[in-house]
Amino acid sequence: MCYSIPGRVVDIDGRTIIIDYFGEQRRAVNEIKNLRIGDYIYAQGGYVIDAVPAGEAEEVLALWKELFFELQERDQSLSGFTRPSGQTGDRLSRLLERIATGGAEVPEEDLLYFLNLEDEADIAALMQAANHLRHKHLGNSCCIHGILEFSNYCSQACGYCGISAHNKGANRYRMMPEEVVEAACRAINKYGFKALVLQSGEDPAYSIDDLCRIVSGIREREPALIFISCGEVGLNGLQRLYEAGARGLLMRFETGNPRLYEQLHPGRSLDSRLEHLRAAFDMGYLLITGGLIGLPGQTREDVLNDILLTRSLRAEMYSFGPFIPHPGTPLAGAHSPSALEIIKTLSVARIADARDAKIVITTSFETLAEDARRRGLSAGANSVMISLTPDTLRRDYTLYPDRAHSNESLEYQISDVLDLLSDLGRAPTDIGISHADSQLT
Ligand code: SAH
Repeated sequence: MCYSIPGRVVDIDGRTIIIDYFGEQRRAVNEIKNLRIGDYIYAQGGYVIDAVPAGEAEEVLALWKELFFELQERDQSLSGFTRPSGQTGDRLSRLLERIATGGAEVPEEDLLYFLNLEDEADIAALMQAANHLRHKHLGNSCCIHGILEFSNYCSQACGYCGISAHNKGANRYRMMPEEVVEAACRAINKYGFKALVLQSGEDPAYSIDDLCRIVSGIREREPALIFISCGEVGLNGLQRLYEAGARGLLMRFETGNPRLYEQLHPGRSLDSRLEHLRAAFDMGYLLITGGLIGLPGQTREDVLNDILLTRSLRAEMYSFGPFIPHPGTPLAGAHSPSALEIIKTLSVARIADARDAKIVITTSFETLAEDARRRGLSAGANSVMISLTPDTLRRDYTLYPDRAHSNESLEYQISDVLDLLSDLGRAPTDIGISHADSQLT
């Protein structure tokens, strides 16, 4: 099975190469020596991760060719924009039409106006415009990242988090470094994943050396884009993990409101979180970041600022999902936001960063609303994650109660995602290059 299609190298200029995918050309950073024009490669997130023998590549491309164009047509037919009429107000129609047809930056006050929409038909019109933009700028590619949650021990006391030190009732588990390498390599070579996130609580049992050994252990055996997501590992830790082969960091800033941040993260500061993200970007990491929606005391202005902060951090991917209260935390009595708040956030993120952004449907959103993936992918999002955590451990990764997919096998999760993508005309490929592009120009 394959979550990315091979491309043919058509130009090489130092570390920058141009790749052709059925006539669409993309740029990527290449770290493989001796790559030549005409060679086939797999790229993820703007990085070349592996060279593919020509015979194998041509076989995969032959299988893909018809499907590729068929999916594109289906997506095209589902992503049209028609100026809203009826109950939607004049201001909304005018703004959405301008956004769907033009390329100008959308003022903050208009973005806030979108976040403040309450009427379902208005929100449906917003979704349609955002989906149209996704289609126009990024086509039908949808990345599928695998996430391996290798430890739920955590030394931190984040006020909302079900695996934080607050939750005395959690069943704690920790995979051995070799088990993590084994599970990651299986996901890559058996199931075809090309991008993996390694996530855990801040678990002091793993030293930076251990984490480096995990990353390099995977990279030595299998080609993949590895994201780390183990909390604040320090700037030196980030550098060492980059050297070990990590090329992505998934770290939400959670909320960009410093007062709220400090209330929810005792002993920690927003500045330190942002310092990690900025330093990681400068080192060359791709960033996946964002925050929680619906935290007690959070306003829609805060949500807008969080979207703009994600953009200013030059994130490769936006990760925004609902806060869902966990009974073992200080926020046990708080409430989740409605699914519409999340939809609006995804759509506004797309409108604010129309050309480049990858926007992921989070598992928390899937937990909040059953049809979250379909709705989110139709509201401007273009990425999903699949949990690779062994079945016996996954149900103990209780960030919040009743986490979606806790009891589904990996095979079921994969076929479920592929069916949905096919239905929506999305190709499970990753041929985007936003970060590499910005670094190369
Ligand atoms: N230790 C890592 C990973 C944290 S857990 C780090 O510090 O980055 C992964 C994510 O789960 C967090 O970033 C947080 O946004 C999300 N999360 C935790 N508790 C949650 C809850 N109650 N509802 C929704 N999302 C939650």
